[in-house]
Amino acid sequence: MWGAIERLGRDGRTGGYLRDAWSPADLELREWFRQEAARRGLDLREDRNGNLWAWRGDPSRRPGVVTGSHLDSVRQGGAFDGPLGIVSAFAALDLLDARGFRPDRPLGIACFTDEEGARFGVPCTGSRLLTGVLDPDRARGLTDDDGSSLADVLRRAGRDPGALGRDDETLGHVGVFVELHVEQGRGLVHAGAPVGVASAIWPHGRWRFDFRGRADHAGTTRLEDRDDPMLPFARTVLQAREAARRRGVVATFGRLRVSPGSANAIPGLVTAWLDARGGDTGAVRALVAELAESSGAEVGEESWTPAVDFDAALRDRLASAAGAAVAAARSAAHRTAAGPHPEDVRDTVSEAPAGPVPVLPTGAGHDAGILAAAGVPSAMVFVRNPTGISHSPEEHAEASDCHLGVAALAATLEELCRS
Ligand SMILES: [Zn+2]
Repeated sequence: MWGAIERLGRDGRTGGYLRDAWSPADLELREWFRQEAARRGLDLREDRNGNLWAWRGDPSRRPGVVTGSHLDSVRQGGAFDGPLGIVSAFAALDLLDARGFRPDRPLGIACFTDEEGARFGVPCTGSRLLTGVLDPDRARGLTDDDGSSLADVLRRAGRDPGALGRDDETLGHVGVFVELHVEQGRGLVHAGAPVGVASAIWPHGRWRFDFRGRADHAGTTRLEDRDDPMLPFARTVLQAREAARRRGVVATFGRLRVSPGSANAIPGLVTAWLDARGGDTGAVRALVAELAESSGAEVGEESWTPAVDFDAALRDRLASAAGAAVAAARSAAHRTAAGPHPEDVRDTVSEAPAGPVPVLPTGAGHDAGILAAAGVPSAMVFVRNPTGISHSPEEHAEASDCHLGVAALAATLEELCRS
């Protein structure tokens, strides 16, 4: 499966991925998802918001156990963020099938649309629309860099933008959701563990800052006659860093649009997007208020995701199930030289055995967090990332850790199907 998708949307120059929602690469990935579902005889549905669901069993009879993630990427992103969760979902299903496991609950694999928000600026669009926290009128009016609205883009992809919005029927099919994801940090490296479980997602948001000035000639306009919005923007970037350090949170200006955007013109408008997150909601809010006040920019909140604390009992059950599965997979690989990936596992067998896997918080937002906030019991399984780097072509996970992640995910699904 990995071989089938790794070339899709990859920039041959940088090795980074360009998988904007509804781009040709995204549409190819969605088609690949359909084929993987069909190959396993799963019932494929696309909901009103463009999310894909591959079901075994009928979730309208009884809400199912669902796993999955997303296939879109940030611009110049890595291969693992999102697709690892989808590939592992299909692989975990195959593992359960090979064991002859027959769940008495429907089992689903979900692919959420536009998790990263790379194209239209709002992350987790698919799950936010599904759960009703994103207003469909606002969603339809979001525009990409070419000025195309989400409504236009959906129409061109043969979808009905009028159908967007809260979808209780689809949401009602999800009894419990587990998302496997590459870790976006080095918590598991420090713990010496290949797999972990999420405790919480930090509150986080995106804000748009519009700095207005007056466009003019870069050569003929005297310095004292200029109204250059790049200057307050630059001061705000430095202040964001200082304020984040002071308040114990993180803040990033990672996206910038300059108008008219010529090397020989003083800008008339600088639009920049601030991403701010932290363990403490009040500190994040205070940072944004401070920057809004002193920047002189018009500031609009594009998204806000409150803190998510995953259900502790569910999390602990899954940490135990995952821990047992990881220990079993390692000792099986250790025992038999004819095991599936003995060379991959050799370097990990000496690490701490058995017991629950580590439980750790994350600063990254996920569809699992959106579902949890909407009242769906949700959990996350993380796979170790040796460098911790993410949203970059450097993002990585070792094959042996990915296989242990699949084993852990299969065990969590089995555990959930029993309840
Ligand atoms: Zn992701």
